[in-house]
Amino acid sequence: MVRKFDKPILVTKSFLPPLGEYIEQCKKIWDSHWLTNDGELCKKFVAESQNYLKVSNMVPFVNGHLALEIAIKALGLKGNVITTPFTFASTTHALINNGLEPRFCDINLNDFTIDSDIIEALIDENTSAILPVHVFGNPCDVAKINKISQNYSLKVIYDAAHVFGVEIDGVGIGNFGDVSMFSLHATKVFHSIEGGLLTFHDKDLERQFNLYKNFGITGPETVEAVGLNAKMNEFQAAMGLVNLRYIDDEIAARKLLAECYRDNLCDIEGINYLNDTAGVKHNYAYFPIIIDPQFFGITRNQLHEKLKEFNIYTRKYFYPLTTDYECYKNKYKADHLINSICISDKILTLPIYGTLTLENVFNICEIIKILKNTK
Ligand SMILES: *Cc1c(COP(=O)(O)O)cnc(C)c1O
Repeated sequence: MVRKFDKPILVTKSFLPPLGEYIEQCKKIWDSHWLTNDGELCKKFVAESQNYLKVSNMVPFVNGHLALEIAIKALGLKGNVITTPFTFASTTHALINNGLEPRFCDINLNDFTIDSDIIEALIDENTSAILPVHVFGNPCDVAKINKISQNYSLKVIYDAAHVFGVEIDGVGIGNFGDVSMFSLHATKVFHSIEGGLLTFHDKDLERQFNLYKNFGITGPETVEAVGLNAKMNEFQAAMGLVNLRYIDDEIAARKLLAECYRDNLCDIEGINYLNDTAGVKHNYAYFPIIIDPQFFGITRNQLHEKLKEFNIYTRKYFYPLTTDYECYKNKYKADHLINSICISDKILTLPIYGTLTLENVFNICEIIKILKNTK
Protein backbone atom coordinates (compact mmCIF):
# COMPACT_ATOMS: atom_id res chain seq x y z
CA MET A 1 0.00 0.00 0.00
CA VAL A 2 1.44 3.35 -1.05
CA ARG A 3 1.09 6.11 1.47
CA LYS A 4 2.20 9.62 2.19
CA PHE A 5 5.81 10.16 3.35
CA ASP A 6 6.06 10.84 7.11
CA LYS A 7 8.52 13.66 6.57
CA PRO A 8 8.68 16.08 3.66
CA ILE A 9 10.90 14.93 0.80
CA LEU A 10 12.41 18.02 -0.84
CA VAL A 11 13.89 18.19 -4.32
CA THR A 12 17.37 18.22 -2.80
CA LYS A 13 19.12 18.06 0.52
CA SER A 14 22.56 19.59 0.95
CA PHE A 15 25.37 17.15 1.55
CA LEU A 16 26.95 17.53 4.99
CA PRO A 17 30.17 15.71 5.89
CA PRO A 18 30.87 14.32 9.38
CA LEU A 19 31.06 17.42 11.61
CA GLY A 20 34.39 16.37 13.11
CA GLU A 21 36.08 16.49 9.73
CA TYR A 22 34.90 20.04 9.15
CA ILE A 23 36.01 21.13 12.63
CA GLU A 24 39.41 19.56 11.94
CA GLN A 25 39.80 21.91 8.95
CA CYS A 26 38.48 24.89 10.91
CA LYS A 27 41.16 24.39 13.57
CA LYS A 28 43.69 25.33 10.89
CA ILE A 29 41.88 28.64 10.47
CA TRP A 30 42.25 29.30 14.21
CA ASP A 31 45.93 28.39 14.04
CA SER A 32 46.70 30.63 11.07
CA HIS A 33 44.26 33.37 12.12
CA TRP A 34 43.73 33.91 8.37
CA LEU A 35 40.02 34.02 7.48
CA THR A 36 39.81 35.11 3.84
CA ASN A 37 41.84 36.65 0.95
CA ASP A 38 43.52 33.63 -0.67
CA GLY A 39 44.40 31.71 2.48
CA GLU A 40 46.17 28.37 2.70
CA LEU A 41 42.92 26.34 2.70
CA CYS A 42 41.72 28.20 -0.35
CA LYS A 43 44.97 27.43 -2.19
CA LYS A 44 44.78 23.77 -1.20
CA PHE A 45 41.15 23.58 -2.26
CA VAL A 46 41.98 25.02 -5.68
CA ALA A 47 44.83 22.55 -6.18
CA GLU A 48 42.61 19.59 -5.29
CA SER A 49 39.63 20.84 -7.33
CA GLN A 50 41.83 21.43 -10.37
CA ASN A 51 42.99 17.87 -10.09
CA TYR A 52 39.44 16.53 -9.70
CA LEU A 53 38.03 18.58 -12.59
CA LYS A 54 41.09 17.81 -14.75
CA VAL A 55 41.72 21.48 -15.61
CA SER A 56 44.93 23.51 -15.56
CA ASN A 57 43.67 26.99 -14.66
CA MET A 58 41.24 27.87 -11.87
CA VAL A 59 40.29 30.85 -9.70
CA PRO A 60 37.91 30.48 -6.71
CA PHE A 61 35.09 32.90 -5.82
CA VAL A 62 32.57 33.54 -3.07
CA ASN A 63 29.74 32.30 -5.31
CA GLY A 64 29.04 31.23 -8.87
CA HIS A 65 27.10 34.30 -9.90
CA LEU A 66 29.86 36.81 -9.13
CA ALA A 67 32.33 34.47 -10.83
CA LEU A 68 30.18 34.66 -13.95
CA GLU A 69 29.91 38.45 -13.79
CA ILE A 70 33.66 38.70 -13.41
CA ALA A 71 34.28 36.36 -16.35
CA ILE A 72 32.11 38.63 -18.50
CA LYS A 73 33.90 41.77 -17.27
CA ALA A 74 37.40 40.37 -17.68
CA LEU A 75 36.73 39.21 -21.25
CA GLY A 76 35.52 42.74 -22.04
CA LEU A 77 32.37 41.60 -23.83
CA LYS A 78 30.40 44.20 -25.80
CA GLY A 79 27.10 44.41 -27.68
CA ASN A 80 25.02 41.24 -27.61
CA VAL A 81 25.61 37.72 -26.31
CA ILE A 82 23.80 34.59 -27.45
CA THR A 83 22.31 32.60 -24.57
CA THR A 84 19.19 30.64 -23.55
CA PRO A 85 16.19 31.55 -21.38
CA PHE A 86 15.90 27.98 -19.99
CA THR A 87 18.18 28.57 -17.02
CA PHE A 88 18.46 30.03 -13.53
CA ALA A 89 18.14 33.82 -13.04
CA SER A 90 21.92 34.17 -12.71
CA THR A 91 22.76 33.58 -16.40
CA THR A 92 20.57 36.35 -17.80
CA HIS A 93 21.14 38.74 -14.88
CA ALA A 94 24.93 38.48 -15.34
CA LEU A 95 24.62 39.81 -18.90
CA ILE A 96 22.19 42.60 -17.98
CA ASN A 97 24.32 43.71 -15.01
CA ASN A 98 27.22 44.11 -17.44
CA GLY A 99 25.24 46.22 -19.91
CA LEU A 100 25.00 43.48 -22.53
CA GLU A 101 22.02 42.53 -24.66
CA PRO A 102 21.00 38.87 -24.35
CA ARG A 103 20.08 37.28 -27.69
CA PHE A 104 17.89 34.35 -26.76
CA CYS A 105 18.42 31.13 -28.66
CA ASP A 106 16.03 28.16 -28.36
CA ILE A 107 17.04 24.86 -26.72
CA ASN A 108 16.98 21.40 -28.25
CA LEU A 109 14.56 18.72 -27.09
CA ASN A 110 17.24 16.03 -26.60
CA ASP A 111 18.95 17.54 -23.57
CA PHE A 112 17.50 21.06 -23.11
CA THR A 113 20.82 22.78 -23.88
CA ILE A 114 21.24 25.51 -26.54
CA ASP A 115 20.26 24.36 -30.05
CA SER A 116 23.63 24.67 -31.75
CA ASP A 117 22.03 24.46 -35.21
CA ILE A 118 20.34 27.83 -34.85
CA ILE A 119 23.07 29.84 -33.10
CA GLU A 120 24.56 31.17 -36.36
CA ALA A 121 21.29 32.74 -37.48
CA LEU A 122 21.36 34.95 -34.37
CA ILE A 123 24.91 36.28 -34.84
CA ASP A 124 25.37 39.84 -36.11
CA GLU A 125 28.23 42.37 -36.16
CA ASN A 126 27.54 43.31 -32.52
CA THR A 127 27.72 39.76 -31.17
CA SER A 128 30.73 39.27 -28.90
CA ALA A 129 30.11 35.91 -27.22
CA ILE A 130 28.01 32.82 -26.63
CA LEU A 131 26.89 31.98 -23.07
CA PRO A 132 25.43 28.45 -23.17
CA VAL A 133 24.29 26.49 -20.10
CA HIS A 134 25.11 22.83 -19.41
CA VAL A 135 21.57 22.36 -18.05
CA PHE A 136 20.98 19.70 -15.34
CA GLY A 137 24.48 18.34 -15.89
CA ASN A 138 24.01 17.69 -19.63
CA PRO A 139 26.94 18.91 -21.72
CA CYS A 140 26.15 21.32 -24.56
CA ASP A 141 27.23 20.50 -28.10
CA VAL A 142 30.74 21.73 -27.30
CA ALA A 143 32.29 20.70 -30.63
CA LYS A 144 29.81 22.64 -32.76
CA ILE A 145 29.87 25.65 -30.43
CA ASN A 146 33.66 25.68 -30.60
CA LYS A 147 33.55 25.68 -34.39
CA ILE A 148 31.04 28.53 -34.53
CA SER A 149 33.06 30.59 -32.05
CA GLN A 150 36.19 30.17 -34.17
CA ASN A 151 34.43 31.01 -37.44
CA TYR A 152 32.97 34.23 -36.04
CA SER A 153 35.72 35.08 -33.49
CA LEU A 154 33.34 34.93 -30.54
CA LYS A 155 34.18 34.22 -26.92
CA VAL A 156 32.45 31.28 -25.22
CA ILE A 157 31.62 31.31 -21.51
CA TYR A 158 29.86 28.20 -20.27
CA ASP A 159 27.45 28.39 -17.36
CA ALA A 160 28.76 25.16 -15.85
CA ALA A 161 26.91 25.63 -12.55
CA HIS A 162 25.36 22.13 -12.84
CA VAL A 163 28.27 20.08 -14.15
CA PHE A 164 30.84 19.61 -11.37
CA GLY A 165 32.57 16.31 -12.12
CA VAL A 166 31.12 15.83 -15.61
CA GLU A 167 33.51 14.63 -18.32
CA ILE A 168 33.25 14.13 -22.07
CA ASP A 169 35.39 11.20 -23.27
CA GLY A 170 37.57 11.59 -20.19
CA VAL A 171 38.05 15.35 -20.67
CA GLY A 172 36.89 17.54 -17.78
CA ILE A 173 33.95 19.69 -18.86
CA GLY A 174 35.74 22.82 -17.63
CA ASN A 175 38.18 22.56 -20.53
CA PHE A 176 35.70 23.69 -23.19
CA GLY A 177 35.14 27.29 -24.26
CA ASP A 178 37.21 30.24 -23.06
CA VAL A 179 35.85 30.14 -19.51
CA SER A 180 33.51 27.90 -17.48
CA MET A 181 31.70 28.92 -14.30
CA PHE A 182 30.99 26.25 -11.68
CA SER A 183 28.64 26.99 -8.79
CA LEU A 184 29.43 25.46 -5.42
CA HIS A 185 26.16 26.52 -3.80
CA ALA A 186 24.76 24.35 -0.99
CA THR A 187 22.07 22.89 -3.28
CA LYS A 188 24.49 21.73 -5.97
CA VAL A 189 25.97 18.23 -6.34
CA PHE A 190 29.20 19.49 -4.85
CA HIS A 191 29.36 22.55 -2.61
CA SER A 192 31.46 24.78 -0.37
CA ILE A 193 28.37 26.23 1.40
CA GLU A 194 28.40 29.02 -1.18
CA GLY A 195 31.15 29.22 -3.72
CA GLY A 196 32.15 29.44 -7.34
CA LEU A 197 35.02 28.54 -9.66
CA LEU A 198 36.18 29.81 -13.00
CA THR A 199 38.20 27.43 -15.15
CA PHE A 200 39.82 28.83 -18.30
CA HIS A 201 42.29 28.36 -21.15
CA ASP A 202 44.28 31.56 -21.26
CA LYS A 203 46.56 31.67 -18.22
CA ASP A 204 46.73 35.49 -18.53
CA LEU A 205 43.10 35.71 -17.43
CA GLU A 206 44.09 34.59 -13.94
CA ARG A 207 45.46 38.01 -13.08
CA GLN A 208 42.31 39.72 -14.38
CA PHE A 209 40.00 37.44 -12.44
CA ASN A 210 41.96 37.96 -9.22
CA LEU A 211 41.96 41.70 -9.81
CA TYR A 212 38.20 41.90 -10.28
CA LYS A 213 37.38 39.67 -7.34
CA ASN A 214 39.21 42.00 -4.91
CA PHE A 215 38.00 45.52 -5.77
CA GLY A 216 40.63 45.91 -8.52
CA ILE A 217 43.30 46.37 -5.84
CA THR A 218 46.85 45.58 -6.97
CA GLY A 219 48.86 47.01 -4.08
CA PRO A 220 48.53 48.90 -0.80
CA GLU A 221 48.21 52.17 -2.70
CA THR A 222 47.05 51.08 -6.15
CA VAL A 223 43.56 50.25 -7.44
CA GLU A 224 43.66 49.46 -11.16
CA ALA A 225 40.09 48.47 -11.97
CA VAL A 226 36.51 48.99 -10.79
CA GLY A 227 36.27 45.56 -9.24
CA LEU A 228 33.86 43.67 -7.04
CA ASN A 229 34.27 41.80 -3.78
CA ALA A 230 33.96 38.13 -4.66
CA LYS A 231 36.65 36.33 -2.71
CA MET A 232 36.17 32.79 -1.41
CA ASN A 233 36.80 32.63 2.36
CA GLU A 234 38.61 29.96 4.37
CA PHE A 235 35.44 28.48 5.88
CA GLN A 236 34.11 27.84 2.40
CA ALA A 237 37.40 26.30 1.34
CA ALA A 238 37.36 24.11 4.47
CA MET A 239 33.92 22.76 3.53
CA GLY A 240 35.01 22.27 -0.06
CA LEU A 241 38.12 20.34 0.98
CA VAL A 242 36.13 17.97 3.17
CA ASN A 243 33.33 17.52 0.64
CA LEU A 244 35.83 16.59 -2.09
CA ARG A 245 36.48 13.40 -0.10
CA TYR A 246 32.85 12.41 -0.61
CA ILE A 247 32.01 13.66 -4.09
CA ASP A 248 32.60 10.32 -5.83
CA ASP A 249 30.34 8.53 -3.33
CA GLU A 250 27.68 11.22 -3.75
CA ILE A 251 27.67 10.86 -7.54
CA ALA A 252 27.65 7.04 -7.31
CA ALA A 253 24.65 7.14 -4.96
CA ARG A 254 22.79 9.51 -7.27
CA LYS A 255 23.53 7.30 -10.27
CA LEU A 256 21.74 4.38 -8.58
CA LEU A 257 18.78 6.62 -7.74
CA ALA A 258 18.55 7.91 -11.32
CA GLU A 259 18.61 4.33 -12.61
CA CYS A 260 15.88 3.41 -10.13
CA TYR A 261 13.72 6.31 -11.36
CA ARG A 262 14.23 5.25 -14.96
CA ASP A 263 13.42 1.60 -14.23
CA ASN A 264 10.18 2.52 -12.48
CA LEU A 265 8.98 5.36 -14.70
CA CYS A 266 9.69 3.74 -18.07
CA ASP A 267 6.26 2.12 -18.39
CA ILE A 268 4.23 5.20 -17.53
CA GLU A 269 2.62 6.69 -20.59
CA GLY A 270 3.06 10.45 -20.74
CA ILE A 271 6.22 10.57 -18.59
CA ASN A 272 9.57 11.03 -20.27
CA TYR A 273 13.09 11.52 -18.93
CA LEU A 274 16.62 11.88 -20.19
CA ASN A 275 19.01 8.98 -20.54
CA ASP A 276 22.77 9.01 -20.15
CA THR A 277 24.81 10.04 -23.18
CA ALA A 278 27.48 7.65 -24.48
CA GLY A 279 30.99 8.88 -23.64
CA VAL A 280 29.75 11.28 -20.95
CA LYS A 281 30.50 10.81 -17.25
CA HIS A 282 27.34 12.25 -15.70
CA ASN A 283 26.91 13.72 -12.22
CA TYR A 284 23.13 13.15 -11.78
CA ALA A 285 22.69 16.69 -10.47
CA TYR A 286 18.95 16.70 -11.19
CA PHE A 287 16.26 14.25 -12.27
CA PRO A 288 13.83 16.13 -14.49
CA ILE A 289 10.79 14.46 -16.05
CA ILE A 290 8.59 15.74 -18.88
CA ILE A 291 4.86 15.32 -18.38
CA ASP A 292 2.70 15.13 -21.48
CA PRO A 293 -0.83 15.78 -20.18
CA GLN A 294 -2.40 14.26 -23.28
CA PHE A 295 -1.07 10.83 -22.27
CA PHE A 296 -0.50 11.23 -18.53
CA GLY A 297 -4.01 12.59 -17.97
CA ILE A 298 -2.98 15.48 -15.69
CA THR A 299 -0.72 18.46 -16.23
CA ARG A 300 2.69 19.19 -14.77
CA ASN A 301 1.15 21.78 -12.45
CA GLN A 302 -1.48 19.30 -11.24
CA LEU A 303 1.13 16.61 -10.59
CA HIS A 304 3.33 19.15 -8.76
CA GLU A 305 0.38 20.06 -6.47
CA LYS A 306 -0.86 16.51 -5.92
CA LEU A 307 2.62 15.26 -4.97
CA LYS A 308 2.62 17.76 -2.11
CA GLU A 309 -0.31 15.86 -0.58
CA PHE A 310 2.10 12.90 -0.32
CA ASN A 311 4.77 15.13 1.23
CA ILE A 312 6.84 15.17 -1.97
CA TYR A 313 8.10 18.63 -2.95
CA THR A 314 9.23 18.79 -6.56
CA ARG A 315 10.41 21.91 -8.39
CA LYS A 316 9.49 23.41 -11.75
CA TYR A 317 13.05 23.91 -13.03
CA PHE A 318 13.13 26.02 -15.21
CA TYR A 319 9.79 27.74 -15.06
CA PRO A 320 9.27 30.54 -15.79
CA LEU A 321 11.79 31.16 -18.56
CA THR A 322 14.03 34.13 -17.72
CA THR A 323 12.33 36.07 -20.57
CA ASP A 324 9.07 35.83 -18.59
CA TYR A 325 10.43 37.26 -15.34
CA GLU A 326 8.64 40.40 -14.15
CA CYS A 327 11.88 42.36 -14.53
CA TYR A 328 12.29 41.34 -18.20
CA LYS A 329 8.66 41.13 -19.28
CA ASN A 330 7.95 42.48 -22.79
CA LYS A 331 11.63 43.37 -23.22
CA TYR A 332 12.60 40.47 -25.46
CA LYS A 333 10.99 38.70 -28.38
CA ALA A 334 10.21 35.20 -27.16
CA ASP A 335 7.82 33.66 -29.68
CA HIS A 336 10.69 31.89 -31.49
CA LEU A 337 11.60 30.02 -28.28
CA ILE A 338 9.23 27.18 -29.07
CA ASN A 339 11.09 24.30 -27.40
CA SER A 340 11.99 26.38 -24.36
CA ILE A 341 8.34 27.31 -23.81
CA CYS A 342 7.18 23.72 -24.36
CA ILE A 343 9.73 22.16 -21.97
CA SER A 344 9.31 24.88 -19.36
CA ASP A 345 5.58 24.12 -19.24
CA LYS A 346 5.99 20.33 -18.95
CA ILE A 347 9.08 19.83 -16.83
CA LEU A 348 9.20 18.77 -13.20
CA THR A 349 12.35 18.04 -11.22
CA LEU A 350 12.04 15.08 -8.86
CA PRO A 351 13.94 14.67 -5.57
CA ILE A 352 17.51 13.39 -5.94
CA TYR A 353 20.34 13.53 -3.38
CA GLY A 354 22.81 11.05 -1.96
CA THR A 355 20.92 10.24 1.24
CA LEU A 356 17.62 9.57 -0.52
CA THR A 357 17.02 5.80 -0.55
CA LEU A 358 16.10 3.48 -3.41
CA GLU A 359 12.96 2.68 -1.45
CA ASN A 360 12.10 6.41 -1.35
CA VAL A 361 12.51 6.60 -5.11
CA PHE A 362 10.44 3.46 -5.66
CA ASN A 363 7.64 4.96 -3.53
CA ILE A 364 7.77 8.29 -5.36
CA CYS A 365 7.35 6.40 -8.64
CA GLU A 366 4.41 4.36 -7.23
CA ILE A 367 2.72 7.59 -6.15
CA ILE A 368 3.24 9.11 -9.62
CA LYS A 369 1.57 5.99 -11.07
CA ILE A 370 -1.42 6.39 -8.75
CA LEU A 371 -1.78 10.04 -9.73
CA LYS A 372 -1.97 9.29 -13.46
CA ASN A 373 -5.39 10.25 -14.84
CA THR A 374 -6.61 11.53 -11.43
CA LYS A 375 -8.50 14.59 -12.61
C1 LIG B 1 23.20 27.87 -9.14
C2 LIG B 1 23.29 28.45 -10.50
C3 LIG B 1 24.01 29.64 -10.77
C4 LIG B 1 24.54 30.57 -9.71
O1 LIG B 1 25.34 30.03 -8.80
P1 LIG B 1 25.50 30.60 -7.32
O2 LIG B 1 26.70 29.89 -6.84
O3 LIG B 1 24.26 30.25 -6.56
O4 LIG B 1 25.70 32.08 -7.39
C5 LIG B 1 24.16 30.04 -12.10
N1 LIG B 1 23.61 29.35 -13.10
C6 LIG B 1 22.87 28.25 -12.90
C7 LIG B 1 22.31 27.52 -14.06
C8 LIG B 1 22.67 27.78 -11.59
O5 LIG B 1 21.90 26.70 -11.39
